[in-house]
Amino acid sequence: METGGPMRKLAMFGGTFNPIHNGHLHLVQGFRERLGLDRVLLIPSRVPPHKAAADLADAKDRLEMCRLAAQPYGLEVSDAELLRQGPSYTVDTLRQLHRENPGAELYLLMGADMFLTLEHWYQSGELFRLARMCAAPRDENGRGELLAYAERIESLGAKTHVEELSLLPVSSTLVRGRIARGLPIAGLVPKAVEAYITAHHLYGGISNG
Ligand code: ATP
Repeated sequence: METGGPMRKLAMFGGTFNPIHNGHLHLVQGFRERLGLDRVLLIPSRVPPHKAAADLADAKDRLEMCRLAAQPYGLEVSDAELLRQGPSYTVDTLRQLHRENPGAELYLLMGADMFLTLEHWYQSGELFRLARMCAAPRDENGRGELLAYAERIESLGAKTHVEELSLLPVSSTLVRGRIARGLPIAGLVPKAVEAYITAHHLYGGISNG
């Protein structure tokens, strides 16, 4: 995970990615453009067994779907959190990125739901020191709330960036629900991801193949 140059803009985008969908890609593309990011790493998170839901796909499937989605966009995928044993904290991943990419400027990308909980994240002070917290709304009324929260965590030492990206109201929950009910998911996930889901019978879908 090395950038090969000083002060390059390196962004981390973490998530369960169960599965990765077009809302994720839209967010990343928007930030990449607005912030002039040099590299974006998609980092699927390890879900501890006691938190795993029945419709959580295996880590290897979530990772592979991220790779399929990332490739056409020139995004990178890291298995750093999947490989790490024990609880997986974003702050540890950022520390690793910081170590491996000295001089890089780190950005943490996320949707509103995650941003509004940042204060409660493990070692949030250290998290705020390591990277700029970047958020975009997930619904119509989100922006005001995000700006107010950004101000609040700035007073705690965070660097923030709130971006007015156009909304793409997709969630993994929506995608899984449609698959389970036999409804099409075209346009919600990249074609290669859709094909992977079908081929591997993920999320209770019925394969046509
Ligand atoms: P689920 O429906 O299973 O909770 P999700 O769609 O929220 O999943 P995650 O993998 O949990 O996806 O989210 C990873 C990150 O992507 C989070 O920071 C989340 O806020 C953000 N995100 C997900 N969907 C969107 C979207 N449509 N627009 C903006 N941000 C999004």
